[in-house]
Amino acid sequence: MRLGFSAGDEAFRAEAADWLADQMSGEFRDIKDVLGLTVMAERRKEWEQQLGRHRWSCIGWPSKWGGRDATLEQQVIFAEEYARSGAPGRVGHMGIELAGPTILAFGTEEQKARFLPGIASGEVLWCQGYSEPNAGSDLASVRTRARVDEATGEWVVDGQKIWTSLAQICDWIFVVTRSEEGSKGPKGLTFLLMPIDQPGITIRPIRQINGDAEFNETFFDGARTAAENLVSTPGNGWQVAMGLLAFERGVSTLGQQMGFRHELDAIIAAAKANGSASNPLIRQRIAKAEIGLRLMRYGALRVLSNTDHARPDGAALTYKLQWATWRRNLGELAMDVLGQAGEVTAGPDYDFPMLPSLFLSSRADTIYGGTNQIQRNIVAERALGLPREPRGNA
Ligand SMILES: Cc1cc2nc3c(=O)[nH]c(=O)nc-3n(C[C@H](O)[C@H](O)[C@H](O)COP(=O)(O)OP(=O)(O)OC[C@H]3O[C@@H](n4cnc5c(N)ncnc54)[C@H](O)[C@@H]3O)c2cc1C
Repeated sequence: MRLGFSAGDEAFRAEAADWLADQMSGEFRDIKDVLGLTVMAERRKEWEQQLGRHRWSCIGWPSKWGGRDATLEQQVIFAEEYARSGAPGRVGHMGIELAGPTILAFGTEEQKARFLPGIASGEVLWCQGYSEPNAGSDLASVRTRARVDEATGEWVVDGQKIWTSLAQICDWIFVVTRSEEGSKGPKGLTFLLMPIDQPGITIRPIRQINGDAEFNETFFDGARTAAENLVSTPGNGWQVAMGLLAFERGVSTLGQQMGFRHELDAIIAAAKANGSASNPLIRQRIAKAEIGLRLMRYGALRVLSNTDHARPDGAALTYKLQWATWRRNLGELAMDVLGQAGEVTAGPDYDFPMLPSLFLSSRADTIYGGTNQIQRNIVAERALGLPREPRGNA
């Protein structure tokens, strides 16, 4: 077990930190600290392209596809320095962390050549078409249908997805569809890559609790995609979809502590400024948050010290549960520190300052990428080897 980074890794850290500091104090200073994903979307796209031009976008990918062949340690270091620099939330993250790795793992050489360069250069943005009104945690219940048009060989898709983050600014969507009539559960599903800008796709934004509209309802009405945009084989979509979720829930989140550190520091500063730091209950909760953050960082380093990163141990499976619960509690602490002042907006509509925004957005942490309840099932079954939960559709 090795809890720390090598000298070479620290040199890499310095290089990344210098570049990010230059950008955030120079050309891109107007989007420093912008987190809400639809805010200044056009500038955020330019930022994605700037990262791509300097090969800082998908550093873990093979250099052949625009990456740097970075080790997992370097990827975590970059994520830490990214958060420390105040660089904005990544509007390209679903291509970089989900679509790209999935195409790398399951796609053909033609698909890699067709799609990976656009993701790495930041020019093509992706979104995720998994959830449906009756298929969220139970993804195997999807009903959006796909069939092959015998005349053209194209796939034709009808149905509805929901909670599609950033669909309104993306170019492509990956969708889980049911392609075998009468099939149930994980059987008969097909994983398709689809261009969004076409007459068969309608996107309707959903207004959120924080006033933003990152989510959308996405309707497919005879939407089409070429035969070669099928990933894996027809009916094998479940394996692809689960492979992708492993990327979403997995080690890609290990580097986020720096962002959490920034948020906890803001709460501590607010508590000192308004006197609530003298309240013994608040002091205890701040101390608990500090301990939780340090435990997460050591937990992350421990996962990194696992020599077989392709097969992380059970501790890695608990990580989503750990950080999501910690950050949801942090949001509640922020509001209790602020008191009534936290409920007053700084401007029109829902223009909340950082800490109330943290509270509102953190409510989603225990839901997306696998709810806490589902995550506990995964830990129970995959890490502890407990009997499988009875499935309604088994
Ligand atoms: C910020 C955010 C962004 C998102 N972005 C996207 C996106 O881009 N694309 C996309 O496709 N989806 C997206 N989602 C949707 C997300 O994947 C779903 O919300 C999630 O899978 C939960 O599904 P659901 O909302 O249908 O809840 P349900 O599945 O209906 O669950 C409701 C409750 O029941 C519990 N539950 C359900 N089944 C079990 C079980 N077997 N055992 C124990 N408890 C259970 C759940 O844990 C939960 O508490 C996003 C969600 C959020 C919050």
